[in-house]
Amino acid sequence: MSTIAFIGLGIMGSPMAVHLQNAGHRVIGYNRSPEKTQPLVAAGGTAAGSVAEAVADADVVATMLPDSPDVVDVLAGEDGVLAHARPGTLIIDFSTIRPDVTTELAGQATERGFRLLDAPVSGGEAGAKNAALSIMVGGGAEDFETATPYLEVVGKTIVHVGPAGSGQTVKAANQLIVAGNIGLLAEAILFLEAYGVDTTAAVRVLGGGLAGSAVLDQKAQKMLDRSFEPGFRIELHHKDLGIVTSAAREAGVTIPLGATVAQLMGAARAAGDGSLDHSALFRTLARLSGRDA
Ligand code: NAD
Repeated sequence: MSTIAFIGLGIMGSPMAVHLQNAGHRVIGYNRSPEKTQPLVAAGGTAAGSVAEAVADADVVATMLPDSPDVVDVLAGEDGVLAHARPGTLIIDFSTIRPDVTTELAGQATERGFRLLDAPVSGGEAGAKNAALSIMVGGGAEDFETATPYLEVVGKTIVHVGPAGSGQTVKAANQLIVAGNIGLLAEAILFLEAYGVDTTAAVRVLGGGLAGSAVLDQKAQKMLDRSFEPGFRIELHHKDLGIVTSAAREAGVTIPLGATVAQLMGAARAAGDGSLDHSALFRTLARLSGRDA
Protein backbone atom coordinates (compact mmCIF):
# COMPACT_ATOMS: atom_id res chain seq x y z
CA MET A 1 0.00 0.00 0.00
CA SER A 2 1.26 3.47 -0.87
CA THR A 3 1.20 7.00 0.39
CA ILE A 4 -0.69 9.12 -2.14
CA ALA A 5 -0.89 12.92 -2.16
CA PHE A 6 -4.11 14.05 -3.84
CA ILE A 7 -4.29 17.71 -4.87
CA GLY A 8 -7.59 19.19 -6.04
CA LEU A 9 -10.55 17.72 -4.19
CA GLY A 10 -13.46 19.13 -6.19
CA ILE A 11 -16.39 17.38 -7.84
CA MET A 12 -14.11 14.73 -9.38
CA GLY A 13 -11.03 14.69 -7.14
CA SER A 14 -12.91 14.23 -3.87
CA PRO A 15 -14.61 10.88 -4.69
CA MET A 16 -11.44 9.64 -6.44
CA ALA A 17 -9.32 10.38 -3.35
CA VAL A 18 -11.91 8.65 -1.15
CA HIS A 19 -11.80 5.51 -3.35
CA LEU A 20 -7.99 5.39 -3.08
CA GLN A 21 -8.21 5.74 0.71
CA ASN A 22 -10.89 3.03 0.88
CA ALA A 23 -8.66 0.74 -1.22
CA GLY A 24 -6.17 0.77 1.66
CA HIS A 25 -3.76 3.50 0.60
CA ARG A 26 -2.76 6.35 2.87
CA VAL A 27 -4.17 9.44 1.13
CA ILE A 28 -3.10 12.96 2.07
CA GLY A 29 -5.34 15.55 0.42
CA TYR A 30 -4.80 19.21 -0.29
CA ASN A 31 -7.35 21.64 -1.70
CA ARG A 32 -7.24 25.42 -1.98
CA SER A 33 -10.57 25.73 -0.17
CA PRO A 34 -9.82 23.51 2.86
CA GLU A 35 -13.42 22.44 3.60
CA LYS A 36 -13.30 20.24 0.47
CA THR A 37 -10.96 17.82 2.31
CA GLN A 38 -13.83 16.84 4.60
CA PRO A 39 -15.08 13.70 2.73
CA LEU A 40 -11.50 12.36 2.51
CA VAL A 41 -10.93 12.95 6.22
CA ALA A 42 -14.27 11.26 7.00
CA ALA A 43 -13.01 8.21 5.03
CA GLY A 44 -9.86 8.05 7.19
CA GLY A 45 -7.54 10.17 5.01
CA THR A 46 -5.51 13.18 6.10
CA ALA A 47 -5.84 16.87 5.20
CA ALA A 48 -2.65 18.80 4.48
CA GLY A 49 -2.23 22.56 4.77
CA SER A 50 -0.07 22.97 1.67
CA VAL A 51 1.16 21.18 -1.44
CA ALA A 52 4.58 20.81 0.20
CA GLU A 53 3.11 19.11 3.27
CA ALA A 54 0.91 16.82 1.16
CA VAL A 55 3.71 15.54 -1.10
CA ALA A 56 6.63 15.31 1.33
CA ASP A 57 6.28 11.54 1.99
CA ALA A 58 4.28 10.58 -1.07
CA ASP A 59 5.08 7.63 -3.36
CA VAL A 60 2.48 8.91 -5.82
CA VAL A 61 1.10 12.41 -6.40
CA ALA A 62 -2.31 12.77 -8.07
CA THR A 63 -3.68 16.10 -9.29
CA MET A 64 -7.25 16.93 -10.35
CA LEU A 65 -7.30 20.67 -11.00
CA PRO A 66 -9.44 22.90 -13.22
CA ASP A 67 -7.15 24.27 -15.94
CA SER A 68 -3.60 24.45 -17.41
CA PRO A 69 -2.38 27.41 -15.26
CA ASP A 70 -3.52 25.59 -12.08
CA VAL A 71 -1.55 22.47 -12.99
CA VAL A 72 1.54 24.50 -13.98
CA ASP A 73 1.36 26.33 -10.66
CA VAL A 74 0.82 23.22 -8.52
CA LEU A 75 3.46 21.11 -10.28
CA ALA A 76 6.16 23.55 -11.36
CA GLY A 77 5.53 26.58 -9.09
CA GLU A 78 7.92 27.64 -6.35
CA ASP A 79 5.82 25.90 -3.68
CA GLY A 80 4.88 23.08 -6.00
CA VAL A 81 5.25 19.33 -6.33
CA LEU A 82 8.56 19.27 -8.23
CA ALA A 83 10.13 21.47 -5.56
CA HIS A 84 8.91 19.42 -2.59
CA ALA A 85 8.26 15.78 -3.53
CA ARG A 86 10.96 13.11 -3.46
CA PRO A 87 12.63 12.66 -6.87
CA GLY A 88 11.41 9.46 -8.49
CA THR A 89 7.85 10.10 -7.34
CA LEU A 90 5.20 9.12 -9.87
CA ILE A 91 2.90 12.05 -10.70
CA ILE A 92 -0.49 11.31 -12.25
CA ASP A 93 -2.29 14.37 -13.57
CA PHE A 94 -5.99 13.58 -13.99
CA SER A 95 -6.89 17.19 -14.95
CA THR A 96 -7.98 18.14 -18.46
CA ILE A 97 -5.43 20.64 -19.77
CA ARG A 98 -3.71 21.67 -23.01
CA PRO A 99 -1.66 18.83 -24.57
CA ASP A 100 1.30 21.19 -25.24
CA VAL A 101 1.35 22.26 -21.58
CA THR A 102 1.37 18.61 -20.51
CA THR A 103 4.26 17.82 -22.84
CA GLU A 104 6.24 20.77 -21.49
CA LEU A 105 5.54 19.74 -17.87
CA ALA A 106 6.51 16.13 -18.58
CA GLY A 107 9.86 17.40 -19.92
CA GLN A 108 10.46 19.47 -16.79
CA ALA A 109 9.45 16.58 -14.55
CA THR A 110 11.80 14.16 -16.30
CA GLU A 111 14.69 16.65 -16.11
CA ARG A 112 14.18 16.91 -12.37
CA GLY A 113 14.02 13.13 -11.84
CA PHE A 114 10.23 12.67 -11.68
CA ARG A 115 7.82 10.59 -13.76
CA LEU A 116 4.66 12.27 -15.05
CA LEU A 117 1.62 10.73 -16.69
CA ASP A 118 -1.28 12.67 -18.18
CA ALA A 119 -4.40 10.72 -17.28
CA PRO A 120 -7.50 12.80 -18.05
CA VAL A 121 -10.79 11.09 -17.37
CA SER A 122 -14.27 10.83 -18.82
CA GLY A 123 -17.46 9.65 -17.19
CA GLY A 124 -18.50 12.69 -15.22
CA GLU A 125 -19.33 12.98 -11.55
CA ALA A 126 -21.23 9.67 -11.72
CA GLY A 127 -18.13 7.96 -13.13
CA ALA A 128 -15.98 9.38 -10.33
CA LYS A 129 -18.45 8.38 -7.61
CA ASN A 130 -18.88 4.86 -9.02
CA ALA A 131 -15.16 4.37 -9.75
CA ALA A 132 -16.15 3.76 -13.36
CA LEU A 133 -14.11 6.41 -15.16
CA SER A 134 -12.63 6.02 -18.60
CA ILE A 135 -8.97 7.06 -18.32
CA MET A 136 -6.82 8.00 -21.32
CA VAL A 137 -3.17 7.86 -20.36
CA GLY A 138 -0.16 9.51 -21.98
CA GLY A 139 3.45 8.87 -20.94
CA GLY A 140 6.03 6.09 -20.70
CA ALA A 141 4.91 2.45 -20.88
CA GLU A 142 6.76 1.51 -17.68
CA ASP A 143 5.21 4.40 -15.77
CA PHE A 144 1.80 3.38 -17.07
CA GLU A 145 2.39 -0.11 -15.70
CA THR A 146 3.34 1.32 -12.29
CA ALA A 147 0.24 3.54 -12.30
CA THR A 148 -2.24 0.88 -13.41
CA PRO A 149 -3.11 -0.50 -9.92
CA TYR A 150 -4.00 3.04 -8.77
CA LEU A 151 -5.93 3.83 -11.94
CA GLU A 152 -7.91 0.61 -11.54
CA VAL A 153 -9.20 1.87 -8.18
CA VAL A 154 -10.92 4.87 -9.82
CA GLY A 155 -11.59 3.72 -13.38
CA LYS A 156 -12.99 0.89 -15.48
CA THR A 157 -11.65 1.58 -18.98
CA ILE A 158 -7.96 2.39 -18.70
CA VAL A 159 -5.98 2.76 -21.91
CA HIS A 160 -2.40 3.83 -22.58
CA VAL A 161 -2.80 5.95 -25.71
CA GLY A 162 0.82 7.04 -26.36
CA PRO A 163 3.63 9.31 -25.14
CA ALA A 164 3.25 12.40 -22.90
CA GLY A 165 0.41 14.66 -24.02
CA SER A 166 -1.46 11.90 -25.91
CA GLY A 167 -3.95 11.43 -23.08
CA GLN A 168 -4.86 15.11 -23.34
CA THR A 169 -5.22 14.92 -27.11
CA VAL A 170 -7.64 12.01 -26.78
CA LYS A 171 -9.52 13.86 -24.04
CA ALA A 172 -9.87 16.91 -26.34
CA ALA A 173 -11.50 14.61 -28.92
CA ASN A 174 -13.74 13.26 -26.16
CA GLN A 175 -14.91 16.75 -25.26
CA LEU A 176 -15.63 17.54 -28.91
CA ILE A 177 -17.87 14.47 -29.18
CA VAL A 178 -19.65 15.12 -25.87
CA ALA A 179 -20.34 18.79 -26.64
CA GLY A 180 -21.75 17.96 -30.06
CA ASN A 181 -23.97 15.27 -28.51
CA ILE A 182 -25.26 17.65 -25.86
CA GLY A 183 -26.05 20.33 -28.43
CA LEU A 184 -28.00 17.97 -30.68
CA LEU A 185 -29.82 16.36 -27.74
CA ALA A 186 -30.94 19.83 -26.60
CA GLU A 187 -32.14 20.69 -30.11
CA ALA A 188 -34.04 17.39 -30.34
CA ILE A 189 -35.78 17.97 -26.99
CA LEU A 190 -36.76 21.52 -27.95
CA PHE A 191 -38.11 20.16 -31.25
CA LEU A 192 -40.12 17.43 -29.50
CA GLU A 193 -41.52 19.89 -26.96
CA ALA A 194 -42.58 22.27 -29.75
CA TYR A 195 -44.73 19.44 -31.19
CA GLY A 196 -46.22 18.55 -27.79
CA VAL A 197 -44.81 15.01 -27.95
CA ASP A 198 -44.58 12.97 -24.71
CA THR A 199 -40.88 13.68 -24.21
CA THR A 200 -40.33 10.97 -21.56
CA ALA A 201 -41.64 8.33 -23.97
CA ALA A 202 -39.64 9.84 -26.81
CA VAL A 203 -36.38 9.84 -24.84
CA ARG A 204 -36.96 6.20 -23.83
CA VAL A 205 -37.35 4.97 -27.37
CA LEU A 206 -34.56 7.18 -28.74
CA GLY A 207 -32.27 5.72 -26.08
CA GLY A 208 -32.78 2.19 -27.47
CA GLY A 209 -31.79 3.01 -31.04
CA LEU A 210 -28.84 4.53 -32.86
CA ALA A 211 -29.62 7.90 -31.23
CA GLY A 212 -28.92 6.34 -27.82
CA SER A 213 -25.79 7.50 -25.99
CA ALA A 214 -24.27 8.01 -22.56
CA VAL A 215 -25.06 11.70 -23.05
CA LEU A 216 -28.73 10.92 -23.65
CA ASP A 217 -28.80 8.57 -20.63
CA GLN A 218 -27.21 11.10 -18.27
CA LYS A 219 -28.41 14.45 -19.60
CA ALA A 220 -31.88 14.15 -21.19
CA GLN A 221 -33.72 14.11 -17.87
CA LYS A 222 -31.80 17.16 -16.67
CA MET A 223 -32.98 19.04 -19.77
CA LEU A 224 -36.59 17.83 -19.38
CA ASP A 225 -36.57 18.91 -15.71
CA ARG A 226 -34.65 22.16 -16.40
CA SER A 227 -32.39 21.01 -13.55
CA PHE A 228 -28.79 21.99 -14.21
CA GLU A 229 -26.91 21.43 -10.95
CA PRO A 230 -23.27 20.48 -11.89
CA GLY A 231 -21.89 17.87 -12.72
CA PHE A 232 -19.48 19.25 -15.25
CA ARG A 233 -19.59 23.01 -15.42
CA ILE A 234 -20.15 24.98 -18.65
CA GLU A 235 -17.05 26.96 -17.63
CA LEU A 236 -14.91 23.81 -17.86
CA HIS A 237 -16.41 22.62 -21.14
CA HIS A 238 -15.79 26.08 -22.60
CA LYS A 239 -12.13 25.66 -21.58
CA ASP A 240 -12.01 22.22 -23.25
CA LEU A 241 -13.55 23.45 -26.50
CA GLY A 242 -10.91 26.18 -26.54
CA ILE A 243 -8.29 23.42 -26.24
CA VAL A 244 -9.72 21.33 -29.08
CA THR A 245 -10.39 24.22 -31.49
CA SER A 246 -6.87 25.62 -31.14
CA ALA A 247 -5.20 22.17 -31.25
CA ALA A 248 -7.21 21.27 -34.37
CA ARG A 249 -6.26 24.57 -36.02
CA GLU A 250 -2.59 23.93 -35.28
CA ALA A 251 -2.86 20.50 -36.89
CA GLY A 252 -4.69 21.91 -39.94
CA VAL A 253 -7.85 19.95 -39.14
CA THR A 254 -11.17 21.69 -39.83
CA ILE A 255 -13.90 21.07 -37.25
CA PRO A 256 -16.93 23.11 -38.35
CA LEU A 257 -19.42 21.36 -36.07
CA GLY A 258 -17.02 21.63 -33.15
CA ALA A 259 -16.46 25.32 -33.87
CA THR A 260 -20.22 25.96 -33.82
CA VAL A 261 -20.76 24.16 -30.55
CA ALA A 262 -17.72 25.97 -29.10
CA GLN A 263 -19.38 29.29 -29.97
CA LEU A 264 -22.64 28.17 -28.36
CA MET A 265 -20.81 27.05 -25.21
CA GLY A 266 -19.09 30.47 -25.11
CA ALA A 267 -22.49 32.14 -25.45
CA ALA A 268 -23.86 30.04 -22.57
CA ARG A 269 -20.99 31.18 -20.39
CA ALA A 270 -21.37 34.82 -21.46
CA ALA A 271 -25.07 34.65 -20.59
CA GLY A 272 -24.15 33.79 -17.00
CA ASP A 273 -24.58 29.98 -17.13
CA GLY A 274 -20.89 29.14 -16.57
CA SER A 275 -21.42 27.52 -13.17
CA LEU A 276 -24.27 25.28 -14.38
CA ASP A 277 -23.89 21.72 -15.71
CA HIS A 278 -22.92 21.53 -19.40
CA SER A 279 -26.40 20.14 -20.13
CA ALA A 280 -27.49 23.78 -19.54
CA LEU A 281 -26.29 24.40 -23.10
CA PHE A 282 -29.99 23.57 -23.56
CA ARG A 283 -30.82 27.03 -22.17
CA THR A 284 -28.79 28.79 -24.87
CA LEU A 285 -30.49 26.77 -27.62
CA ALA A 286 -33.92 27.35 -26.06
CA ARG A 287 -33.30 31.11 -26.04
CA LEU A 288 -32.42 31.00 -29.75
CA SER A 289 -35.91 29.62 -30.40
CA GLY A 290 -37.60 31.97 -27.93
CA ARG A 291 -38.66 28.97 -25.85
CA ASP A 292 -38.78 28.25 -22.12
CA ALA A 293 -35.27 27.69 -20.77
P1 NAD B 1 -13.82 21.47 -9.49
O1 NAD B 1 -13.73 22.93 -9.72
O2 NAD B 1 -15.02 20.89 -8.81
O3 NAD B 1 -12.53 20.96 -8.67
C1 NAD B 1 -11.26 21.51 -8.76
C2 NAD B 1 -10.70 21.68 -7.34
O4 NAD B 1 -9.36 22.15 -7.40
C3 NAD B 1 -11.49 22.72 -6.52
O5 NAD B 1 -11.91 22.11 -5.32
C4 NAD B 1 -10.49 23.85 -6.28
O6 NAD B 1 -10.65 24.46 -5.03
C5 NAD B 1 -9.18 23.09 -6.37
N1 NAD B 1 -8.05 23.93 -6.74
C6 NAD B 1 -7.93 24.84 -7.73
N2 NAD B 1 -6.72 25.36 -7.77
C7 NAD B 1 -6.01 24.78 -6.76
C8 NAD B 1 -4.69 24.89 -6.29
N3 NAD B 1 -3.84 25.74 -6.84
N4 NAD B 1 -4.31 24.10 -5.26
C9 NAD B 1 -5.17 23.24 -4.69
N5 NAD B 1 -6.45 23.09 -5.09
C10 NAD B 1 -6.86 23.85 -6.11
O7 NAD B 1 -13.60 20.80 -10.91
P2 NAD B 1 -13.91 19.28 -11.36
O8 NAD B 1 -15.24 19.25 -11.97
O9 NAD B 1 -13.54 18.34 -10.26
O10 NAD B 1 -12.85 19.16 -12.57
C11 NAD B 1 -11.45 18.97 -12.36
C12 NAD B 1 -10.81 18.61 -13.69
O11 NAD B 1 -11.42 17.40 -14.20
C13 NAD B 1 -11.00 19.67 -14.79
O12 NAD B 1 -9.85 19.75 -15.57
C14 NAD B 1 -12.18 19.14 -15.57
O13 NAD B 1 -12.16 19.63 -16.92
C15 NAD B 1 -11.96 17.63 -15.48
N6 NAD B 1 -13.16 16.80 -15.61
C16 NAD B 1 -14.31 17.08 -14.93
C17 NAD B 1 -15.42 16.25 -15.08
C18 NAD B 1 -16.75 16.53 -14.38
O14 NAD B 1 -17.75 15.90 -14.74
N7 NAD B 1 -16.82 17.42 -13.39
C19 NAD B 1 -15.34 15.12 -15.89
C20 NAD B 1 -14.15 14.83 -16.53
C21 NAD B 1 -13.06 15.67 -16.38
